[in-house]
Amino acid sequence: MNREFKTPAACQPSRREFLEKAGRTSLGLAVATATLAHAQEGARVTQGPFIDVHTHITQKWGKAPELTAEGLLAWMDSRGILQAVVLPLVSPESWDHPLTTDFVLRVTEPYRDRLIPFCSIDPRVPNLSGYQAKVDLLKRYIDAGAKGFGEHKCGVPIDDSGNMELFKACAELRLPVLFHMDNERNMDTPGLPGLARVLEQNPEGVFIGHANGWWASISGDATQKDMHDYPRRPVMPGGAIDALMDRFPNLYGDLSAGSGANAIQRDIEFGRAFVLRRADRLLFGTDYLSPGQEIPQFDLLRELDLPVDAWEKVACGNARKVLGLA
Ligand SMILES: [Zn+2]
Repeated sequence: MNREFKTPAACQPSRREFLEKAGRTSLGLAVATATLAHAQEGARVTQGPFIDVHTHITQKWGKAPELTAEGLLAWMDSRGILQAVVLPLVSPESWDHPLTTDFVLRVTEPYRDRLIPFCSIDPRVPNLSGYQAKVDLLKRYIDAGAKGFGEHKCGVPIDDSGNMELFKACAELRLPVLFHMDNERNMDTPGLPGLARVLEQNPEGVFIGHANGWWASISGDATQKDMHDYPRRPVMPGGAIDALMDRFPNLYGDLSAGSGANAIQRDIEFGRAFVLRRADRLLFGTDYLSPGQEIPQFDLLRELDLPVDAWEKVACGNARKVLGLA
């Protein structure tokens, strides 16, 4: 399903705004101008503008090559991504080396017009036990520029008591929570009863679901094994995501990574209808963290051939709303 892309009006930056944003970085205006030209022609998959709710800046300690802030910005320019959320990874279950909130705040600082830092804490830290200790630290992160909480990727059940304190604190402080769910991190069971408890107790919070456990739950027949996997069989209607999104207006889905792409691609007919039905709740994201990484979301979104208003919401409009961007 290819077609000429029409850039949606609502998220279309003015030419000047885009050039200013890109030109203020160390990247040249030439790159930005080329990107904008491509975006306008619809000639490539770099048809933005996008806001990417899921990226990581990494360090040289990891197995994968380092991704610097400048490297991330250059990639964003080549893909029509105006702004990106940069997520720390602090729990031992989350990555091969820690990406602390301090690191994320520091490396994004020169580029805050385009790079949006989140903060993260692990609820098991003994010195942060209790609700108030968590609130106090989160407040300090907010003062330093954090706009959300995550990537929360912690080896406890989603409705663990420490998680519950954290989520309450995030709701109180208006920090949207982006959580990774599978059978090792923020665990739940098919039907997502634990997540339902989180949502029931935090009607003021914003929760953004990510990863295999969350996305397997698009299907009504999701098994515990599926929740740590990439199920390929067709989707059965009646999935927990639809049920919870019906009940809770504060629940969103992050389309990033292999899990997000697979959830939509595994049954493209269901996937397209789901994206249209949930166009107010889905957020474009990539999980870009390594130079040269393949990102399926660009082709996938094109393949879905969405109406302009749905595209605009998913590509950037919902993110603007959730992140409180102008
Ligand atoms: Zn991630």
